[in-house]
Amino acid sequence: MAMPALESAAKPLERNCSVGRTVNIIGDGWSFMILREGYFGVRRFKHFQSMLGLPRGTLSARLSALTEQGLLRKVQYSERPPRSEYRLTMMGFDLYPVMLSLLAFGDKWLAGGEPPPLKMFHIPCGSECHPFVACSSCGEEILARRLKYRDGPGAGWAPMAVPKKSRRQVDPTVLERRRPSSVARALQVIGDRWSFMVVREAFFGVRRFDDWQSRLGIAPNILADRLRRFVNVGIFDRVRYQSLPERFEYRLTDMGRDLIGPFSAMLRWGDQWLSGNTPPLLHTHLECGQDFTPRVVCDHCREPITAAAMRYQMAYPEPALD
Ligand SMILES: [Zn+2]
Ligand SMILES: [Zn+2]
Repeated sequence: MAMPALESAAKPLERNCSVGRTVNIIGDGWSFMILREGYFGVRRFKHFQSMLGLPRGTLSARLSALTEQGLLRKVQYSERPPRSEYRLTMMGFDLYPVMLSLLAFGDKWLAGGEPPPLKMFHIPCGSECHPFVACSSCGEEILARRLKYRDGPGAGWAPMAVPKKSRRQVDPTVLERRRPSSVARALQVIGDRWSFMVVREAFFGVRRFDDWQSRLGIAPNILADRLRRFVNVGIFDRVRYQSLPERFEYRLTDMGRDLIGPFSAMLRWGDQWLSGNTPPLLHTHLECGQDFTPRVVCDHCREPITAAAMRYQMAYPEPALD
């Protein structure tokens, strides 16, 4: 779908996208790290604080935002003295497979030759588990080259949601201060909304600077910065396609194409929780020829994964909660 004419628009427009909506919620790193601790069973303010090493004010603001967005709910567990804790909602639990898809990506590409920080076991089948994103129709793994996209019932354009200034990207090293994490590493690479939008357009076939700019309405300096970063981490190859004058395009590497897992998992979650029943984007799996819902499954038994069905073993000593 071409971007509509902009002359009468007061605000810049962006394409309706469940991934964009998801990244608006989790893309700043800390929100995701808070949810991760939630999946590990953390519920109380002081425990979040000791696990994440966050300043009180920041943690308090993030917990409120996640509660407002519907991922956590605040529950009073003691009357005297009055004390509350934060519990995951259905919507919050359902983000768990998205976290696993980021974890799989981080383990594969960003572990730097070290063994993954976290071993996972799928309780129903009893096996060590390496989750992957599969097609709901045929059960096979989703590969970027084997997908076709088209506009869904929710396709269109809406005014761009401008993130608040305070939701600046978190200093990447801070996210891993207490627990080494493949999710944190994956978020360092792709965890802001522009990064994800740039990769999304690459999945749709965009390779050239001008095409990203016209499709996203992204400022040239931001785009140049993201492309440079992506080339540095190995998500794009910069390839000369013309010599006089010299011109370059950016092509997804194998590592870049592997982002289709987290991308698809975020799309599914955003469709379900943030886009009503009108997905902006439909996709067909070329292996089986069917429209499908991406789902994160256990590589051993191929069953969809839920937070309650997983057991963990840390590859490093676990800090005490108190
Ligand atoms: Zn399929
Ligand atoms: Zn299993």
